[in-house]
Amino acid sequence: MEHLIYMDNAATTACYEEVKQAMMPFLTEKYANPSGIYKFATESKSVIDGARKEIANSIGAKPNEICFTAGGTEADNMAIKAVAWKNQTKGKHIITSKIEHHAVLHACEWLEKQGFEVTYLDVDRFGIVDMDQLIRAIRSDTILISIMTANNEIGTIQPIEQIGKIARSRGILFHTDAVQAYMQIPINVNLLSIDLMSVSGHKFGGPKGIGFLYIREKTGILPLLHGGAQEFGKRAGTENVPGIVGIGKAVEISKQTMFKRSRYELGIRDYIVRRISREISEVRINGDFVRRLPGNMNFCFRGIEGESLVVMLDLDGICASAGSACNAGMGNVSHVLTALGVPKDYARGSLRLTINDKITKKDADYAVECIKKSVEKLRGNEKEE
Ligand code: PLP
Repeated sequence: MEHLIYMDNAATTACYEEVKQAMMPFLTEKYANPSGIYKFATESKSVIDGARKEIANSIGAKPNEICFTAGGTEADNMAIKAVAWKNQTKGKHIITSKIEHHAVLHACEWLEKQGFEVTYLDVDRFGIVDMDQLIRAIRSDTILISIMTANNEIGTIQPIEQIGKIARSRGILFHTDAVQAYMQIPINVNLLSIDLMSVSGHKFGGPKGIGFLYIREKTGILPLLHGGAQEFGKRAGTENVPGIVGIGKAVEISKQTMFKRSRYELGIRDYIVRRISREISEVRINGDFVRRLPGNMNFCFRGIEGESLVVMLDLDGICASAGSACNAGMGNVSHVLTALGVPKDYARGSLRLTINDKITKKDADYAVECIKKSVEKLRGNEKEE
């Protein structure tokens, strides 16, 4: 394959080589169903237990608080719907923010049709939830607060510790979608008073189609899926053994590399941001400058279409995105940029670059040059050769 400059790691990441190798036996000769009681099945069961322990350790949880799911979308749906159904006699009010992933927003909208009430909190121009507004939104019938740890479009990291404390002091369950943040920044569910947390394997070097929901012990939920007794009766269905082995291995690797990776990505990111803001006119940098995931950049170029820019960058061998992967091809202005109050003539021209530690300074320079060239072309002020 031609050399790709892959700058769309928020959409998905490449599987680590070690992850593929660890998974392979469980896709081939070690195919036993972990529920079997014969010897052949014991390894399938023990690798699941091992991955569960590895994951639990990474967030300060107990293994029985980790429930494997088919990814982040399922974990978000489970956290919101399963808590709502279980707790509806206590109350039917949920608080979330306007910049959540659609897996949270659409689950909440669906619950509204079932008679629940949802408050969607505003964010400031940097994408941070206002704590006073959160406190004011709490009612006697509030059963759940769901605020993402870090945003998938602008990388903004929320004051999770403060939100957790507020929720805990009012006896309200706190869910956080940590799909983008997990393994990019340290997370301890006890220090942050998190009751439920969604994670997806393919965002940090694991395979697609596997994730987990952290569920604090004794948190009441009703399962979404009924059937067998897998996952402590919380999520029926034969376990995705290769996927679980893969996510476990990805956690083991990512945990060891997190600090070095972040430092490296920060350096490259700041270099790209500096060059783009100096060398291209009428550009906005979206999100918070400090409280931000290390590999995330989000720009808006006035007067162009972000999707056209992405297509032109593709011709130069650069993978980027105009917003989140889930909005791609829809031609809409992102709900996140709308919530930040970005003017429409800028918001339509958005570009998200999410790098990893494989991006070199040479790649960064090449990408900046391509972006400059394409923005100029799209604005119709190409220099005569
Ligand atoms: N939540 C966030 C913040 C995400 O970025 C994503 C994926 O982009 C998801 C949830 C959904 O995760 P999955 O792709 O594993 O279903």
